[in-house]
Amino acid sequence: METSDDKLERRMYSHDLAPLPKEMDAIFKTMPDQVIRPGYTEEVSQMVKKAIATNKPIVPRGAGTWGLGGSVPVKGGYVLDMTAMNKIISIDDRNMTVTVQPGITWKALADALDAKGLFLPSHPSSAPSATIGGWIGTGGTGIGAYKYGTAGDFVRDLEVVLPSGAIMHTGDKRVPANGGGPNLNWLFVGSEGILGVITEVTFSVLPKPEEIRFVSYSFADLAKSAPALRKLVRSDVNPMHIMFGDRSHFDYLRSIGKHAPEVGCMFTMALTGSKASVDAEEKALDEMVSAAGGSKLPKEVADHEWSERSYEFRVRELGVGAIPGEILVPLDSLEKVLGEMDKLVKGMKLKTATIGTVADNNTVMLMPYYLTEEQNFWRSTTAMGFGKKLGDIAFENGGRPVGLGIFFAANLSRVRGKEGAELVRTLKRAMDPHEIMNPGKLVETGTRWGIAMPAFLMNFGMNMMAGVKGLMPRDKMGERELAKVKK
Ligand SMILES: Cc1cc2nc3c(=O)[nH]c(=O)nc-3n(C[C@H](O)[C@H](O)[C@H](O)COP(=O)(O)OP(=O)(O)OC[C@H]3O[C@@H](n4cnc5c(N)ncnc54)[C@H](O)[C@@H]3O)c2cc1C
Repeated sequence: METSDDKLERRMYSHDLAPLPKEMDAIFKTMPDQVIRPGYTEEVSQMVKKAIATNKPIVPRGAGTWGLGGSVPVKGGYVLDMTAMNKIISIDDRNMTVTVQPGITWKALADALDAKGLFLPSHPSSAPSATIGGWIGTGGTGIGAYKYGTAGDFVRDLEVVLPSGAIMHTGDKRVPANGGGPNLNWLFVGSEGILGVITEVTFSVLPKPEEIRFVSYSFADLAKSAPALRKLVRSDVNPMHIMFGDRSHFDYLRSIGKHAPEVGCMFTMALTGSKASVDAEEKALDEMVSAAGGSKLPKEVADHEWSERSYEFRVRELGVGAIPGEILVPLDSLEKVLGEMDKLVKGMKLKTATIGTVADNNTVMLMPYYLTEEQNFWRSTTAMGFGKKLGDIAFENGGRPVGLGIFFAANLSRVRGKEGAELVRTLKRAMDPHEIMNPGKLVETGTRWGIAMPAFLMNFGMNMMAGVKGLMPRDKMGERELAKVKK
């Protein structure tokens, strides 16, 4: 087990993908006391026991790509960097399963499976860097979700080090964990590292499909694509993945010299199956889109979009950072939500671009983002106001924001309901009586003083920051570059 007390290294672990302004140090002790890189499960268990003995928090961390602060300490302690636990333990062709350590990246696992003719279709688009443990920890939705579900749907078994230091298995390596009481695999999917450290994962895998084909279509704008999407979700056509970007997203890409089409919005879909079934799905899609007023784009465009699927935020290079918000909304309310997002963006004097996916047959994931300086105190805190207001739009339209982390823990009761939230809190108290396992996240926004920020105060503060943003001068990042590519 590697340990580091080095100040610079600890500083590197005091933020995730979204750096916090230094003024936040007054509220959160984001700097860990020590960075630990365990190599195997028993070392994780030893560290958890040490955390109890020393009364210090322990914070599981994958690649830190989440951006909601889940892997960042709020009151110091040990950051457990899981990326050294990155081995494939076994690929079992006969039982169609793979067992891995949690620090391996999705891409490394996908490549190893591909070489054996196997396929794990669900992964985050951050697959080149995001770890298996991190995505199970966040319970996100991503590539492959439309046809195959999310990572949790493929979990056969997790090995978890509990907040007591005990090591447990949640399922069975070969057969599903259904029946025999609640499915414990799901207890840890989306638990954001507050109930234990995932140290090993067994997934079921599929045979690699005969054909994987990419197709792209354009529409005048996102709202105009909604009738075609409604037809698609009621049809037999079942794409592995459906992703989209609006005009501003592709304008931004062209403004930094990347290849991107000049379209109102573009959908790219991945079709999987036998060659004959993919041919039939492509033909049916062509007809549906054409009937709804959309157009098919050349195959090179679709292939290029697919190859770019993991690099959605290239436009960050125009500014100091890109702030995204992420919501899940029912397809039924897509046009209404887009209209309300538009009003919010105008009211906060933002210039946003929107990307997203169709996550299942009734759910659209929308991720509007804007360019700003993430480390500027006012710009960073007002960005949280944007996340809050965007989440409100989702709640009001039957959806919800994605992930709670540090800053959106006040949403727990709205996401799970009063009783559901209390059940999650009761579970947390029962499983982690010493309050050492990633405290101050998901069930509460913790502070460096050990006192949780009341939910009403968090919400009040974020609403206020959204108002402040509307009074501040507009972020002008990227405007000059955009003007050059806009007709
Ligand atoms: C370009 C880009 C694209 C993205 N695309 C997607 C997408 O398609 N879908 C999606 O859902 N998200 C996406 N994300 C967000 C993020 O990449 C994912 O949530 C990713 O799965 C996080 O993995 P990580 O290893 O970086 O986890 P981290 O950020 O390190 O941690 C995330 C959470 O998981 C916990 N955790 C980490 N490892 C463990 C462990 N071993 N045991 C217990 N808890 C643990 C942490 O404590 C933390 O709460 C994207 C991000 C970027 C930058």
